[in-house]
Order: sequence, then C-alpha cells, then structure tokens
Amino acid sequence: MSLDPTLRQRLHYLATVLYWLNLVFVPMALMAPAIAWVAEKRPLPLLRWIAAAAAVLPFDTSVSVMAATPPAGKQAPGWYRYKIGSIEITVATDGVARFKMAEDHVTNIKLDTVNAALAEVFMEKDMMTTPYNPIAINTGSKLAVIDTGTGESNFKKSAGVGGQFVTNLTAAGIDRGAVDTVIISHYHGDHINGLLMDDNSLTYPNAEILVPTIEHAFWMGDGEMNRASPGRMQTNFKNVRRVFNSEVMKRVKTYEWDKEVIPGVTAKGTPGHTPGHTSFVIASGPDSVYVQSDVTHVPFLFVRHPDWHAFYDQDGAKAEATRRMVYEMLVVEKLRVQGFHYPFPSLAHVEKYGTGYREIPVIWDPSI
Ligand SMILES: [Zn+2]
Repeated sequence: MSLDPTLRQRLHYLATVLYWLNLVFVPMALMAPAIAWVAEKRPLPLLRWIAAAAAVLPFDTSVSVMAATPPAGKQAPGWYRYKIGSIEITVATDGVARFKMAEDHVTNIKLDTVNAALAEVFMEKDMMTTPYNPIAINTGSKLAVIDTGTGESNFKKSAGVGGQFVTNLTAAGIDRGAVDTVIISHYHGDHINGLLMDDNSLTYPNAEILVPTIEHAFWMGDGEMNRASPGRMQTNFKNVRRVFNSEVMKRVKTYEWDKEVIPGVTAKGTPGHTPGHTSFVIASGPDSVYVQSDVTHVPFLFVRHPDWHAFYDQDGAKAEATRRMVYEMLVVEKLRVQGFHYPFPSLAHVEKYGTGYREIPVIWDPSI
C-alpha cells in the first residue's frame, strides 16, 4: 500500500508529537506522588500546580468524575395495554403471592412430580408463586373491570406485594371512580376481595357489579353454606358473605352464560373450578381474545398438565373436562388467552405440547 506523500508527512508529524507528549506526561504521571510529597514539604506554587495537573491526568485511576446513582429498589408500575378491534384492554397486575406448597397442593399428583415441573421452568421447588392479573376494558361506551384482585387490605398486609390492582390502574390513567361496571368471574377471594377498600367502603362506588347467576346462587344460598365442609369451603362462604355487604348487594345484577354482559363481552360457562365459574370472549370486528379466568391456574403447571387437579378446583373432574374443552378450542381457533394467574401481562397464544399444552407469551408491543 502506498501513501500519498502529504499524508505520510502528516502522520509522521502526528507520531512525533505523540512521542514527545509521552516523554513529558507519562513520567509526570508516574512522578505525581513524589511531586505532591515535595510540594507538601516545600510549598512552591509552581510545584503545587504541577502536582495538581498530574493528579488529574488519565493515567491516574484514583480520580472518579462519575457520581454514584443509588439503586431504585422498587419495581415499575405493572400495567400493559392492547386492543381488540376498537376495545382497549389494560392488564393491571394485582401482584403475586408466594408461599410454601402443601404436600397436596395438586391433589392427584405427588409433590416430587410437581417439583420436577417447577424445575423445568426454573422455579424454586416446594414454592408456589401465584400471579394475579385482573383487566380493565374500555369499550368506548363502558369502562369495566373483570375481577378485582385481592384488595387494598391485602396491599397493606403484604406490604404492597399483592393488592396492587387499584394502584396500577391509577398508574395506567384509570380512576377507580370512573369505572362504571365490575364483572365478576367467580367468588374466590382473589377475584372479589378488591370490591372493598381496607375500610370496607366500595372500591368502585359508581359501578354496577355484574355476577354470574349460578355462582351467586351457590355462594349466597344458605342451604349450600350449611352443607359446606369445615375448613376451606366454610372460610370461602364466610368471605363471600363479608364482601357482599349491603352496599355491594345494592349494586349487584346477575348475568347469564352465552349472553353479552356488556357490548363486546360475552360470558362463557366454564364450571368446575367453582359451580358458576365464568370465562369471557371479548370481541370487536374480526378480533377477539379469550379471558379464561381460572380455567387453569398457573400455566407452567396446569396448562402443561391439564389432568392435574389443584386443591382450589372445587370439582376436580369437571374442572379438568372444562380445561380440556377450552384449550382444544383455543388451539383450533388460534385464539389468544388472557389468564388471570398467568405471569404478567398474562396474554399468550397456546399450542399443544407433550400430553398437554403450553403458552407462548405475546411479545411486548410498544404501540397499541
Ligand atoms: Zn383465582
């Protein structure tokens, strides 16, 4: 390669300058401590100046010009927005619960097998992480929420780990006072407790509360309550009666399966988890999403293994039959699913996998 003479001359000049600079500054940097020491002993202004200049040379790594930023120590607000046709959906997470798994958490499967499934998805063994993800729906004429999360009292009790739905709605620009409809899928505490604030006032004071007819009849029927087995079922009945106080009851209206609850949102009977457990199809134009409520609990256990019965499935066999029917339909129709207990933002596609199914979470979309 031949260089043009002018360029060669310039490079030669540059090399010479760098050579002389090195000859002066490198020894100066190396001598900085000695110069500083001499300057201390013999306070000559010139030496002090040289010592100060040497101290800030790039060779001296002891000088930092960057200020340290303290760690934030908290998570960002959890909400995610997408559209189905002209309907805007906001997933606002209620947070999670983490607890040690009981031996019979999955009633028909040994804990060792459950732990192996947890290991497959890099989850800690013996520990259950349950996400809660209710949604808000803006249809243009209605501002509704489907399910309410665990409520403000849990926000306080869990130091903000759970019960975040309202704070995340607010972060997403949705005022709880502006919500005109609350749609309930079923009467378990993680879906209804958020109807009340910590002081038992209404979380959504301006909303109608739409509930499934069969679910309401089951939990509010005294006969069923009297027949309930001690332990979890009786506790659930007591909780339902606590939440559905007189102020809530004034606003309750029942809805039927296979009918529109509000325009664009159709109720689908998916019993088993509870007798009146309900899912929803949200549709607008050619677009739709299946809001499965608790057809499965966490997908990494119960979508992968639809035959596993969680202890909170009131009728395990019926819940399994429903699960299989719904997931076959989701696969055939290539319908996205919004799952209350899926990891946030809990929106996924579904495909067949092994002896069950698996969820493929949607890719985060910066536009809606
Ligand atoms: Zn649930």
